[in-house]
Amino acid sequence: MSDVLIREVGLRDGLQLVKNILPTEKKIKWLNKQSLLNFQEIEVTSFVPKKVVPQFFDAKIILNEANKISNLTSSVLVPNLFGAKKALELNAQKINYVLSASESHNKANVNKDINSSINELNEIVNYNNNLEKKSSISVAISTSFGCSIEGKVSPNKVLNIVEKVTHLGVDEINIADTVGYGNPYNVKYLFKHVIEIAGKDKIFAHFHDTRGLGLANVIAVLELGIFKFDSSLCGLGGCPFAPGASGNIPTEDLIYLLKTQGIHTGINLNSLLDFCKFIKDWFPDEKLEGKMSKAGLPVGF
Ligand code: ZN
Repeated sequence: MSDVLIREVGLRDGLQLVKNILPTEKKIKWLNKQSLLNFQEIEVTSFVPKKVVPQFFDAKIILNEANKISNLTSSVLVPNLFGAKKALELNAQKINYVLSASESHNKANVNKDINSSINELNEIVNYNNNLEKKSSISVAISTSFGCSIEGKVSPNKVLNIVEKVTHLGVDEINIADTVGYGNPYNVKYLFKHVIEIAGKDKIFAHFHDTRGLGLANVIAVLELGIFKFDSSLCGLGGCPFAPGASGNIPTEDLIYLLKTQGIHTGINLNSLLDFCKFIKDWFPDEKLEGKMSKAGLPVGF
């Protein structure tokens, strides 16, 4: 039983900046291990062109493997309609389409303006609606608080996008603080208004720990009744437009935090920390984050 939905994004957000390609069999091992540990949803790969991010050369294989695992929702990132069609053909259960609240970040990331991105999302939703077996469509609004090109992003800009994508009929909206411009104060403000537009159930929170406030932001949205989070094992990840920035909030630290608040996660933290050791061995050249994998559980926890 679980009160929260924790979506592991290490295999996508985490891996996208890792220069050495993680061998396919290790990705599959990661996938299977984490689902055995009771994770209900994993963002398993990304359908970006191979020449843009070579790490995801095996997207098709990984998605096929993920679909073999029962009780797992496998989601995949898509940057455009072309990627979405490919993923839907391969029976992706959930499509995560990404756009940015910062115009310059959107341009740098997907090479179009925000309005064109929203129009393309509309095409994806329509395409999916016409399929015999529909998938869930999720949209991630990255740089929702700020970006390293434009600086602070105004909440009204984000709310305007939230209104438009809600109107399109997406199943889920992921408010993402891609490079750590969020703090408990502005996070609470934005999420409160996003909830007013889209309702609590549709909303995911995606925090990076760039400036050390990732878990503080989790507390801020928990107080608003948001219980769906993205996180990455050992905090693997970053942002291509913010060199040196740290990655997502570490999954194991998030779970520890939730457990201390009496929130059921359905995940055994000891077993997860054991698995973190494997992950650390796999990435000797990466600077991994996270406190729990270093300190371990408190005595008697
Ligand atoms: Zn991210």
